[in-house]
Amino acid sequence: MFGMIPEKAFERLLGLDECWEVGGAEYETTPVERFLLVIHETARLWPKLRCPVSTCAHPEVVCHDHTEVRVWRHLDAFGKRTEILCSPPRGRCGACRHVWRVPVPWEGEGKHFTRDFEAFALTLMREMPMKKAGDILGESDTRLWRLLFKHVPKAHAALDLSGLVHLGVDEMNCRKGHNYLTVFADLVARRVVFATGGKDHTTFTRFAGELLKHNGHPKAITAVAMDLSHAYQKGAREELGNAQIVFAPFHVTALVGGAMDEVRRREAASSPGLRAILKHTLHALRKNPENLTERQEERLEDLDLKHLATGQAYLVRLELRDIYQHTVKPERARHRLENWIGWVRGKCDRFGEALAPLARVADTIEKHLEGILAHWTSGWLSTGYLEGLNSVFSAVKRKARGYRSRDYMIAMLYFVAGKLSIPSLAARQRTGVLERRDGCV
Ligand SMILES: [Zn+2]
Repeated sequence: MFGMIPEKAFERLLGLDECWEVGGAEYETTPVERFLLVIHETARLWPKLRCPVSTCAHPEVVCHDHTEVRVWRHLDAFGKRTEILCSPPRGRCGACRHVWRVPVPWEGEGKHFTRDFEAFALTLMREMPMKKAGDILGESDTRLWRLLFKHVPKAHAALDLSGLVHLGVDEMNCRKGHNYLTVFADLVARRVVFATGGKDHTTFTRFAGELLKHNGHPKAITAVAMDLSHAYQKGAREELGNAQIVFAPFHVTALVGGAMDEVRRREAASSPGLRAILKHTLHALRKNPENLTERQEERLEDLDLKHLATGQAYLVRLELRDIYQHTVKPERARHRLENWIGWVRGKCDRFGEALAPLARVADTIEKHLEGILAHWTSGWLSTGYLEGLNSVFSAVKRKARGYRSRDYMIAMLYFVAGKLSIPSLAARQRTGVLERRDGCV
């Protein structure tokens, strides 16, 4: 039955104008089942071309020769794999003799796919892991990655960062234990704008260089939210001279949460009796009271919070959380945080070595107090997007499974979280209709 589908039907399907025609449409079963469409240019192509040399632009163009045969995968037609076969012609200028390959209307960014197929593949790749998109499309993930590496840098190069004022910075661990990326995000536009290898202060130098390439300026950044690492502070001070450093609340509370876990671990290890008492309490202690299950609530009630070092650390954690939740004015926040530090130190004196991890965190918080208070003084700086980046990182890692090297991760990160434009299938088809209006089909 496929032999009955006329070539003209494929020309309409591809949106070809009168300059190109399907010379043959064959249905093959070996080596793979597919429609093979042989396309060549018509005599109407040449009068429509001009010499591409800008100083010449002469309208007299003739056919010079044809380049070697190439194959492009197109969207499936009639439910079957469809490929285009063509030897693209080369034109020659009648005036300056310049010779060039005439672009064919269906070609995409990469070598192997048509533009429509690329748009479809990119849409799938954004929705699912690479391997799964490859299975659905019947393409190897190597080819799909190659498409991504063509598409992403081009879309990223067009990024305009002139409005970037509130920056968020965080590290992403690509593989267990090594291979870090530092990720820079626009907290207002809520998107990742840059990522680079490493987590030292030079990552900020590379970011500042990138800003200048995208119409932005390091001095335009008024606030930068990040964790308490020395390297990031050094980078921000050196490269973003006007930026107020803001330590994001979730990084500060995470420090105290980590210290609490450490106190619990040490206390449980100190005697078999305490180990039994603290068994199965980790998740309850990490949760906030309103989220506890009934069972977890009972477990915490059974704990003698006042006399356990772990209990003290838990109360300290809840108090810090309360400061973040219920303090509005910066002066009040300063007062409460200073009280909190003194309160923690009093407990540490009483409990001694058992609360040592907490004593260290209190020192850290005192040392970074201005940056922590900047959460209140920097106005409405929202760090919500920064906090959400962790789930973005997990999604990126899932999608790039099997390809965890730096370049792959950066490409996938920009693709997933960069809000880059994807060539649109619909727009392409509309163009096809318009092109056909003055065609001869
Ligand atoms: Zn010319």
